[in-house]
Amino acid sequence: MSQLFKISEKDCVNCFACVRICPVDAIEVHTDKDFCKIVANRCIGCGNCLNICPFNAISYRSSKQEVKDLIADGGKIAAIVAPSVSGEFIDIKDYRKFVQMIKSLGFTYVCEVTFGVDLVAREYKKLFEDFKGKYFLSSVCPVVVSLVEKFYPELINNLVPVVSPMVATAKVMHKEYGDDTKVVYIGPCIASKDEAKRHTDEGKVDAVLTFTELRELFDEFDIKESKYEYSEFDSPIGYKGSILPIANGLLQIADVSEDLLTGDVITAEGQADIMDAMNEFKNHAETICRHFNLFFCEGCLMGPGTSRGGEKYLRRTMVVNYANKRLKSFNQKSFDESIQKHSSHHLTYSFTADDQRIVPPSQRTVREVLKMINKELMGSKPGCAACGFPSCQDFAVAVASGLAHPDMCLSFSISNRREYIETLKKTNEKLAATEKALHHSEKTAKAEQEAARDASETITTMMKKLPSSLVIVDKKLKIIHSNQSFIDLLGDDAIEINEIVPGLVGADLKTLLPYKVYTLFSQVLINNEDLRNKDIHYKDALLNISVFTIKKNGVVGAVIRDMYAPEVRKEEVVKRIAEAIDINLAMVQKIGFLLGEGAAETEHMLNSIIDTYKEG
Ligand code: SF4
Ligand code: SF4
Repeated sequence: MSQLFKISEKDCVNCFACVRICPVDAIEVHTDKDFCKIVANRCIGCGNCLNICPFNAISYRSSKQEVKDLIADGGKIAAIVAPSVSGEFIDIKDYRKFVQMIKSLGFTYVCEVTFGVDLVAREYKKLFEDFKGKYFLSSVCPVVVSLVEKFYPELINNLVPVVSPMVATAKVMHKEYGDDTKVVYIGPCIASKDEAKRHTDEGKVDAVLTFTELRELFDEFDIKESKYEYSEFDSPIGYKGSILPIANGLLQIADVSEDLLTGDVITAEGQADIMDAMNEFKNHAETICRHFNLFFCEGCLMGPGTSRGGEKYLRRTMVVNYANKRLKSFNQKSFDESIQKHSSHHLTYSFTADDQRIVPPSQRTVREVLKMINKELMGSKPGCAACGFPSCQDFAVAVASGLAHPDMCLSFSISNRREYIETLKKTNEKLAATEKALHHSEKTAKAEQEAARDASETITTMMKKLPSSLVIVDKKLKIIHSNQSFIDLLGDDAIEINEIVPGLVGADLKTLLPYKVYTLFSQVLINNEDLRNKDIHYKDALLNISVFTIKKNGVVGAVIRDMYAPEVRKEEVVKRIAEAIDINLAMVQKIGFLLGEGAAETEHMLNSIIDTYKEG
């Protein structure tokens, strides 16, 4: 059997409206989840949460398919209709049409629960009149029964030990139409769906449809009053049982005095009243000295299985009008015969405690919660009740037990929100400042990047235009950069490689130049001392090489000139003649004692020029 009420994880928005209204704290709140959850064992089936949820996230176990299956199975099937039907179906003008509408769904018999109410009321009368010192709580309402079983287990023996009118009517049906008759209860109460599962004997109810579900079935099968002829309810017909939906109707049916001065029974209806009544009965039964007639809803008129938006006093009027109408055709003789026929039913029932009270958390934990929500000074004094709990202490106990969320405290939530907004504001301001700084650095970085790109382009262009060969290598002698003159100098292989890897980037200098050349690079890398104008023969050329440090022990560059290249040779001749002239002019000045040395230097220089021309 699935859970009676469920919350849809998809639709729940954690507004806590249901948590606040649940009279027994049966709805759990998880800080790490976006939805609430009904704890089936604690739920008493009142349906308060169903009606309060603004997002229609709560639903109850539907029995429509179960009923359709029962009908499809064939065999006799009786619909037993609760007396509050007249308050629900105010749109149906004649109840006899209503009987035929239900029959058209496939029911064999359509009976009123009224007769069952009359049987139960007789038991109440006997019990109240045969007073033996014990005060009772009525057990007609299944939600009240569940409330006592789960949350007032010490009062379990105070429940009137009699079955509900639904179960009494089921017993009547089985006797009247045979044990093989299936029984479907149609009423205003959702909790009856679970109540029905308790009985497996002649009081067995096979399924329970709410009035809302019955309406849905009418719609599904396009069943309308105008399509049907009159049909009377099947027997047995009840007496005053049709006023049960009005809270003190039971007493009137049982003919038990409600006189304020002499009466022995107090009636309470509606959640708030019931919770007060239960607590007062528990604490002061000996002083109050009255039986309690209890209906968790506002009578059965406003049960959670009725259509939403129903008006209580309009429904009450409809119930009274219907009861009067039925009483006009009341047949005492036939009623007495029915009572006689069904007087042997075993209507007593014993209830079993199912204690669901929570072991209270430690005082220390409760104090911590009170401190967190800034309510240490409130304690058990009555609070604002916006959280749904009578005092901050009660609320703190629920929070500590995982049944409530601190955010349900309005003042805590407001102050939290204020703090949150303040923090958010500060964070936003910081964010704006950071954004501005970021924007500025981005701009600077962009300008620097552009400048670097320009510089790089300029250097690259300059390097390309240089007639001399230029190469830059890292400490592993891998080329970082080289210009076209250098590539041309190396020959065809290097020119081909350059087509694939422009600038020979990454190529190993050791594979491109002979040892005597690349070793110059290694020397400079190790010693960090530049080498100037080193002449080396390479292939058919005479190379003039200068190697210099760019980054100590990391990067070196070299300018290589092919001394046989015409433009270099001319330039070199001019340079070297100029040097010779300079030296000779100086020599002339020192002619007396330095003539011999100057002449030797001049001779060496002029010889070198002659060699250069010869080799070219
Ligand atoms: S049906 Fe009633 S008891 Fe059950 S969870 Fe909803 S409000 Fe609580
Ligand atoms: S009332 Fe309950 S089930 Fe509905 S949205 Fe709010 S928290 Fe969720």
